[in-house]
Amino acid sequence: MGTEFDLVIRSGTVATASDVFMSDIGIREGQIVALGRDLAPGQEEIDAEGRYVLPGGIDTHCHIEEPPVGDVHNADTFASATASAAAGGTTTVIPFCTQVKGGIVTGNLRDYHRKAEKALIDYSFHMIISDPSPAVLEELPALIAEGHRSLKIFLTYDNIVLDDAQTLKVLALARRCGALVCVHAENHAAIAFLTEALEKAGLTAPKYHAWAKPPAVEREACHRVISLAELLDTPVHIFHVSGAEPAEEIRRAQQRGLKVFSETCPQYLMLTDRDLDRQGFEGAKFLCSPAPRTEEDQQALWSYLRDGTISVFSSDHAPNRFDGPHGKKVSGENAPFSVVPNGIPGLETRLPILFSEGVVKGRIDLQTFVALSATNPARLFGLSPKKGTIAVGADADIAIWDQTRKVTIRNADLHHQVDYTVYEGVEVTGWPELTLSRGKVVCRDGVIEGREGHGRFLARAPYDYIAPLGRFVTGFDPVTGIQVPSA
Ligand code: MN
Ligand code: MN
Repeated sequence: MGTEFDLVIRSGTVATASDVFMSDIGIREGQIVALGRDLAPGQEEIDAEGRYVLPGGIDTHCHIEEPPVGDVHNADTFASATASAAAGGTTTVIPFCTQVKGGIVTGNLRDYHRKAEKALIDYSFHMIISDPSPAVLEELPALIAEGHRSLKIFLTYDNIVLDDAQTLKVLALARRCGALVCVHAENHAAIAFLTEALEKAGLTAPKYHAWAKPPAVEREACHRVISLAELLDTPVHIFHVSGAEPAEEIRRAQQRGLKVFSETCPQYLMLTDRDLDRQGFEGAKFLCSPAPRTEEDQQALWSYLRDGTISVFSSDHAPNRFDGPHGKKVSGENAPFSVVPNGIPGLETRLPILFSEGVVKGRIDLQTFVALSATNPARLFGLSPKKGTIAVGADADIAIWDQTRKVTIRNADLHHQVDYTVYEGVEVTGWPELTLSRGKVVCRDGVIEGREGHGRFLARAPYDYIAPLGRFVTGFDPVTGIQVPSA
């Protein structure tokens, strides 16, 4: 009889969302099959003594190899993006399949599955709904049933913005089919009005991006989509919460007992609106939506991460190059902020920043780090219990961290194909030294050992976490048309 384990990770300090404990981890056929001290020898052994052994991160908001928009091209492929993610301790990504207005989703989804075959780590997809036409509403139930169990909608941006009527249609369909709606929440008309006024006044440098979308445009859109979701008894997840005001709306909704979830991203903990005001066109590197806010907002976000109001930490990785004709400078250097592609890269730096700024600086504990980076995203998006934790029966998606290693972030050391990081020169403590996807090494000491095509699509089955509350504002369920006992 052969040895019981393909691999044993020996003597590490294992952390889950609830516990920290010393344990060996026995792995067979890509799964965790044993936890305990003094496990029998494996065919391979990794010594993790003195190291943190954490569930691989799950990045539930990242843009990977989306089709070009005009002349703006994604710099990353599935191969480079997932290599970069793995080098930063992430083992699952959920990027976006886009629906082009006027078209349907199915063809794009098949193309996107083909592109993703190059992934080094596992993945699932959100479907962006930019136009809930009758044809789209008709095709979606089958696509959701195939395991594409989340929809993304935008309340701003030309060509993809949904109005309230369209938003209601998507929310209703999501409830009927058991999907989670994720929202980019900013008020489109307000941003357009402010942008026009700024341009008329000649205020077009990158720093005015923040003036075109102050917190009120985000706060209002959060409140609005939460209210629409409440009317239909549909859970909703708010993307990239940038500061105190939108977070307060989410907190209020949660206190009313609603299933409202939210995420924030490294840029909102690390950057402020002053970063947009750097010399020349440099500020464009920091241009993302919502805009970075103030130090007070950063402090508020940490407290909302601690108390669970914001339960997910994602990158919103947007692989726009700074130089060249297809990224930030698509309309030339010193183009007005309104035509600069939004978004910044961050797949690889997401977890080291949360670890260093959060755990090392004492703002969150190690269990909260695991919850925000892996366990909560897995539960929210229906990947539990195979992903997001270290437990018998879970996939062996594991990152072994050297929690004391000091790293100065340099873009030259990152594995994405973007030509900058907004964290150039930032010093962090703690970096993953080994990342495993289903028991296979993907990255060791910064060197990619994973192979393209190892990553698998994660079809997500129906799950309870996002079940509706069965609570209606009136004596009527507007999704089913059935009269119900009123609250
Ligand atoms: Mn967005
Ligand atoms: Mn995004």
